[in-house]
Amino acid sequence: MKKPFFLLIVLFCWRIAAAQTPQIQRVDPTNWWVGMKSPNLQLLVYGPNAGSLTYSINYPGVKLVKSSKVENKNYAFLDLTIAPTAKAGTLQIVGKSGSQTITRAYQLKARDNQPKGQGLTSADFIYLLMPDRFSNADPANDKFADLADKEADRNSPFLRHGGDLKGVGNHLDYLKELGVTALWMTPVIENNQPQTNEGGVMRSAYHGYGFTDHYTVDKRLGGNEAYKELNRKVHATGMRVVQDAVYNHVGINHWLLKDMPSKDWLHQWPNYTNTSYKYQPVTDPHSSAIDRKVTLDGWFVPFLPDLNQSNPYVANYLIQSAIWNTEEFAVDAWRIDTYMYNDQPFMNRCNAALQAEYPKMYTFGESWVNNSVDQAYYTRNRINFPFKSNQTGGLDFVLYSAINAALNEGEGWDSGANRVQQALAQDAVYEDPMKLVTFLDNHDTDRFLSVVKEDLNNYKMGLTWLLTTRGIPHLYYGTEILMKNFKNPSDAEVRRDFPGGFEGDKENKFTAAGRSKAENDAFEFVKTLANYRKNTPALHSGKLMQYLPQNGTYVYFRYTDKAAVMVATNQTDKPVGLDMARFSERTQGFTKARNVLTGEVITDLKLVQLPAKTALVLELQR
Ligand code: CA
Repeated sequence: MKKPFFLLIVLFCWRIAAAQTPQIQRVDPTNWWVGMKSPNLQLLVYGPNAGSLTYSINYPGVKLVKSSKVENKNYAFLDLTIAPTAKAGTLQIVGKSGSQTITRAYQLKARDNQPKGQGLTSADFIYLLMPDRFSNADPANDKFADLADKEADRNSPFLRHGGDLKGVGNHLDYLKELGVTALWMTPVIENNQPQTNEGGVMRSAYHGYGFTDHYTVDKRLGGNEAYKELNRKVHATGMRVVQDAVYNHVGINHWLLKDMPSKDWLHQWPNYTNTSYKYQPVTDPHSSAIDRKVTLDGWFVPFLPDLNQSNPYVANYLIQSAIWNTEEFAVDAWRIDTYMYNDQPFMNRCNAALQAEYPKMYTFGESWVNNSVDQAYYTRNRINFPFKSNQTGGLDFVLYSAINAALNEGEGWDSGANRVQQALAQDAVYEDPMKLVTFLDNHDTDRFLSVVKEDLNNYKMGLTWLLTTRGIPHLYYGTEILMKNFKNPSDAEVRRDFPGGFEGDKENKFTAAGRSKAENDAFEFVKTLANYRKNTPALHSGKLMQYLPQNGTYVYFRYTDKAAVMVATNQTDKPVGLDMARFSERTQGFTKARNVLTGEVITDLKLVQLPAKTALVLELQR
């Protein structure tokens, strides 16, 4: 009886001693670089009792300015400055506690010469895809037994399907042919999340919006090296890389949440509180504090906890991870998820830090608003709001809604193309409306083809508006091959696999031979307009002049001092002879026009026929 008891005491004392031995198990950012513009770096040091150590760093050009403890003794935060003269190499983080000395190697790399931070301009055409649903080049990485979600099953719309970054890289020629200039994928960062029960169905985090490690690309997509390799290929084809950021929340399985630095790392509530999903309390000058708090600090869903960005350690952690990802993976621009639910002063700091490091950096947030004033709130604007956003761009939900409604409901006094014209008529609120990212659909909406009731005339009209009006257009994967579906019964319906991307697919729609006649017609339509756009400065940076829609027709021009492109749409089922005299302000000096889609030349600009249910794109010629 006595002996086992004694052994237990020994074991207990040994465990206390072990628990008190400080260790450094992890340092974030996982490395840094010399030659960055900002000299500042804040290291998060994690390990049992890491907060009890006294730290020093002895490396030429690197100074440990401050070391800080937080609520949880397993963390220390070290503020460093790195002089411009510091050379690449490995420094030692030294931690002392009594007679114990612990060292941890930390790498300061030289910056590589990959293009990065190139930004986006209105000359770009972005393609949005979900890497799990696009192409599977490596079935060996579809699932892993050591991850929280061990499944992959293409037969389930809710589970992972096995698509990966190598698969995306295999189809860059397809994107290039289509006229794409920038690739945006839903997030690639590790989502080691368990399956979640949503509406009685178990779902995988294949969408990528529940980060569990900001410094790791999900190994089911191929991991960090596969992402670097893909981005090298993207840049080699002349395209740009857009990464999808989530600052508002993390996955409940994020490594930092298993042993949080402090309780206020997250927004905590006495009882679980969801965000209201209403943005108005933020933009509304008459809103109440409690409504604002619920919008901003409420959790997105129970398994995506809300980060407290007013905690300076949280803010630094997020900002540095954005810079690290940009530098490590050669990112050119950032799309920012759930922009409206972020602490907006934090977002300004984050945008400014990225721009300070990469002056051409371009960011565009998801602000799902229903009017231009509120859309302006979340980007650089000309309104005297008490808070001024410094974001360069933003997703144009106002124009998205206008185009979808216009083509869904048909023409009328206040409907049809009037909606598009009226949305654009409010552009005075933005500092530069050309910087908004325009779109017809995405992974969270009904697919555009279904919205327009699979009417190919309306489909072409929408794509014509998208590719010729102001802004930076983005296409959602598969729109060009007539992928369709509504979100009802679930968003999985609008996130189906790209046919031909997966082993055993009966059809391969990456090739003309694998597409039907209608699909080839749609593909060629997008390709022709996108490639024309690519080579036509008037459509990038030209001004926009629009004419009031009349009787179902809508005409606008994109023009520079030298060039002009006329876009005319007819939503009625009767052909219309356009009264060209009305447009003389823009047509004077031009004698003829080339139909960009057919190549036909119109030699008499007084007589332009606009067939029923048609979009014309005419390049005016002298
Ligand atoms: Ca795979």
